[in-house]
Amino acid sequence: MPSGGVVLPLRSRMTPIVGIDLGTTNSLVAICDDKGPRIIPDAQGRPLLPSVVRYEVRGEREVAVARGYEARAHAPDDPANTISSVKRLMGRSVADAAPDLPFLSYSVVAGDHNTARVALRRGGSPEAEPVVLSPQEVSAEILRALREQASRALGTEVTKAVITVPAYFDDAQRQATRDAGRIAGLEVVRIVPEPTAAALAYGLGLKAAAAQRPPGSTPSPPSTPSTIAVFDLGGGTFDISILKLTGGDTDIFQVLATAGDTHLGGDDVDNLVVNLLLSDPGLSHRRGTLTPAELSGLKLAAERAKCELSEREQTAIDLPSGPTRTLTRAELESLITPWVDRALDICGRALRDAARQLDITPEALKDTLDAVIMVGGSTRIPLIRRRVGEFFGRAPYTALDPDQVVALGAAVQAGILSGTVKGALLLDVIPLSLGIETAGGAVAKIIFRNSTVPARATEMFSTSVDGQTSIKLHILQGEREMVEDCRSLGTFHLRGLPPMPAGIPQVEVEFLVDANGVLNVSAHERRSGRRAQLQVIPNHGLTREEVARMEADSLTHARDDMTRHRIADLIVNSKLDIKWIGERLAKYESKLDPDYAADLKAQLAALRSRIESAERDWKSVDPDEFYRAKNALDQSSIRLQEVGISESLRNRPGA
Ligand code: ADP
Ligand code: MG
Repeated sequence: MPSGGVVLPLRSRMTPIVGIDLGTTNSLVAICDDKGPRIIPDAQGRPLLPSVVRYEVRGEREVAVARGYEARAHAPDDPANTISSVKRLMGRSVADAAPDLPFLSYSVVAGDHNTARVALRRGGSPEAEPVVLSPQEVSAEILRALREQASRALGTEVTKAVITVPAYFDDAQRQATRDAGRIAGLEVVRIVPEPTAAALAYGLGLKAAAAQRPPGSTPSPPSTPSTIAVFDLGGGTFDISILKLTGGDTDIFQVLATAGDTHLGGDDVDNLVVNLLLSDPGLSHRRGTLTPAELSGLKLAAERAKCELSEREQTAIDLPSGPTRTLTRAELESLITPWVDRALDICGRALRDAARQLDITPEALKDTLDAVIMVGGSTRIPLIRRRVGEFFGRAPYTALDPDQVVALGAAVQAGILSGTVKGALLLDVIPLSLGIETAGGAVAKIIFRNSTVPARATEMFSTSVDGQTSIKLHILQGEREMVEDCRSLGTFHLRGLPPMPAGIPQVEVEFLVDANGVLNVSAHERRSGRRAQLQVIPNHGLTREEVARMEADSLTHARDDMTRHRIADLIVNSKLDIKWIGERLAKYESKLDPDYAADLKAQLAALRSRIESAERDWKSVDPDEFYRAKNALDQSSIRLQEVGISESLRNRPGA
């Protein structure tokens, strides 16, 4: 080896990790180095990449012919093969995606496990067999464009990324996002919720501001716990999240509550403006006769006008084959007021949820909020800023570019993982409780809703039938107490157990949710050493509405559910007791006082009939009485057990 060579710092040889905001409307890529996070623009210097891919079917295969701006600009030429908003289909079934279908310009068909797939049209003919693509493949095309953009700018092949997802994305949607990364040649080192990324970008902003403050001035970045709201209004979706941030040497972010609407965004404003223009005397006569190209031209003009009105008081719109129309900011504002109201209603919901968790009133939470961070292109609308300010009682934080906040935060997380940023930790929460089915159809929760990830919990179980050599583990998600009211995530078996009496095997079940929200379940029978495990990747995800409904249901049914769960457990345990006691009674009856034996038999019969009525209709039994009856039998059977023990000692060989 030649001597005297200059050593290369390890840092620069390390493969960089980029941060990616894979948005419904627009996507961005960013990097964080010792100078802080920054967006990596494309070769033309544009920071955003529209999340649009245009395909052409050539022979048997599809070819992506344009991505980003180019694909979007030419969308009207071939809407059926121009794929936008594919994020709405990620990790979802056709049924899940049904509410989104009317908004998409292309066809969606069912793939394996009813997953939603994109159907491309061959040669523009609706009859020909379509070419079917997964949403992951389309997203991968966008990720590939970002990856090429970053590799070119950084002068090194980029192979690792942190990708953000909405906070409400479930396991299946997160997994689909990872898969898209893998298809694009990216190792997805971490999936981060978008609001958490925004909080990270904000947290870093605070530190930088603190560093610039002259010495001696009062330190204002909070070192005590603080709460922030992230208001994210994008192209098609709205999300509001309330997070807790603990400053100091390490920043800890925790999502307290999230709420939103998957069909509320800037697109609605564009549609409102289009409708306004169509009802205009200058255009109303053409309503219904506009060509698709004219209509999409009008939509682009409406969006352009909307964006201009964020800066100016009025703007001019060119109408198709007609005059120019002036649109004022005041006109736009009165048009969109109901739309703004909808977003603020949702903010109220998130605020109430978060306040409940902190055990304070929503008003008190508003007072203690440290910042309301504005994220998403639509938060540039002055009316939004004003109304959000009025709602939260403070000026929203708009220092960071709303288009870029999430990508910058993803880059900060990437920097933390690669060691360029120190001293911050991310915490996210589990949206729905996770548990397993127990005998009688009840659900034993193992990890509770709102637990912070990564999370680990174990619970001991046993068998309910003698000689069981295999145990089925059924994994469920949801807040309700019975299996039928929860969502099944999968099943697996712990097999090869040596036959043992019911209740003797000691099965330790461990749930582990990793930092990306992926669930690993393992079961271990201690006596035999048998093990089995499962990584849960569900077929398709829950919609946010379903999560909200499951949550609301659990509140409505809480009392009934608890009773039912209790009764199901009482049935199972009473049966086990009856079996044990019955066996011993048969064996040792001759050694017992006849009155005592008769009393035990009567109690056994009474408990048996109580079980029967509970199995017929659980509502007909009083769980407290049931419990007392079971307990009384347990107490009465103590003498029987003592007799049994002394008899078996006496009969021991050599005794
Ligand atoms: P997403 O997160 O859904 O990918 P973005 O955060 O990129 O979306 O937001 C895109 C939306 O923001 C579009 O509807 C766009 O019209 C809107 N938007 C961008 N700039 C402005 C502006 N200056 N004024 C009003 N709306 C804007
Ligand atoms: Mg976004």
